[in-house]
Amino acid sequence: MARLVMKFGGTSVANIERIRNVARHVKREIDEGHEVAVVVSAMSGKTNELVGWVNEANKHYDPREYDAVVASGEQVTSGLLAIVLQEMGIPARSWQGWQIPIETNDAHGSARIARIDGARVIEGFGRREVAVVAGFQGVDPLSGRVSTLGRGGSDTSAVAVAAALHADRCDIYTDVDGVYTTDPRIVPKARRLDRIAFEEMLEMASLGAKVLQVRSVEMAMVHGVQTFVRSSFDDPANPRPGTLICNEEDIVEEQVVTGIAFSKDEAQITLRKVADKPGVAAAIFQPLAQANINVDMIIQVASDDSTTDITFTVPTAEFDRARAILEKAKDEIGFSTLQASTDVVKISAIGVGMRSHTGVAADAFRALARKGINIRAITTSEIKFSVLIDAAYTELAVRTLHSLYGLDKA
Ligand code: ASP
Ligand code: MG
Repeated sequence: MARLVMKFGGTSVANIERIRNVARHVKREIDEGHEVAVVVSAMSGKTNELVGWVNEANKHYDPREYDAVVASGEQVTSGLLAIVLQEMGIPARSWQGWQIPIETNDAHGSARIARIDGARVIEGFGRREVAVVAGFQGVDPLSGRVSTLGRGGSDTSAVAVAAALHADRCDIYTDVDGVYTTDPRIVPKARRLDRIAFEEMLEMASLGAKVLQVRSVEMAMVHGVQTFVRSSFDDPANPRPGTLICNEEDIVEEQVVTGIAFSKDEAQITLRKVADKPGVAAAIFQPLAQANINVDMIIQVASDDSTTDITFTVPTAEFDRARAILEKAKDEIGFSTLQASTDVVKISAIGVGMRSHTGVAADAFRALARKGINIRAITTSEIKFSVLIDAAYTELAVRTLHSLYGLDKA
């Protein structure tokens, strides 16, 4: 007997028929004799609809009420799945975040889980009862108010519940059958990985792969939760194992590069002819930091007239705000012009094997140059490197790197 957490995303619970299919997956594990907690998302599209209503009601809403509204999507699916399981003769009950409780801080709209008390859910296991947990939501114990964990947060709910229950495994069921070497819609030759290291998955998710919420991977890594990404559309009687996210030591066949991620959520800003002297970087980046704008890639190119050009990227959604802040501080910073482009993409290669191999990024620069792709900015770290290029070359660049590192091969 094992203790499992099974998580089902929005497309897997999109209607009653799909919820019945989810129940069949749960039944399979129950028939095997396992203890099961299921974490569910809202039906696909539901959370967007709820967020839309909140914004329509008042753009300057009270974030506590935003949470009261958007948490309702998961409340519905948890109740529906419990009803369907009961109908199949499987004892089940729904749990909202506050009932468990899943305690969070008070950052409404993007709250962090502080503590989960698994005792009552475990008591339910003693009665052979399936716990159906509403994902994405918790409670701030100080105010008693419902909180939500940020978009995509039910992945994090699932991993956190798995850690709290000391589950043997956390299975994240989604509409794809695992984690791929890159997006198969861009590269048809992309392959499903049997295994990927926590750190690699963390980078993949942070750098644009949309399979899992970044925080869920962090949580799995910190608590060592064995996490599988697998398909809810597989035959419930005979599903494939999916991709295991695990410790680096548990990966036998190590590649230098494991995956290629890309993100169009980048905007480039270049400040021309900034004085090349101490304090200038602080003058640029401090006001951005104060406005909570996340600066990602930074490069500085000095010219011979003691000025320098500084290029950096910010998330697309923050672009207008960043530009306004910099224009306002123009005299203080002292730049000649601000140039900007939102038509850029950040392409990243990720692999723990980079720690022990040199020249991995250099190979990419050469391969991209051969295709006539100009690199606007570069960043590297221990297990990844990223290049910023024109968005028009996204597919070509991703394909080029995917085959360069041997990821096309079966
Ligand atoms: N329903 C929430 C969202 O759409 C949480 C989730 O699905 O993970 O963001
Ligand atoms: Mg999701």
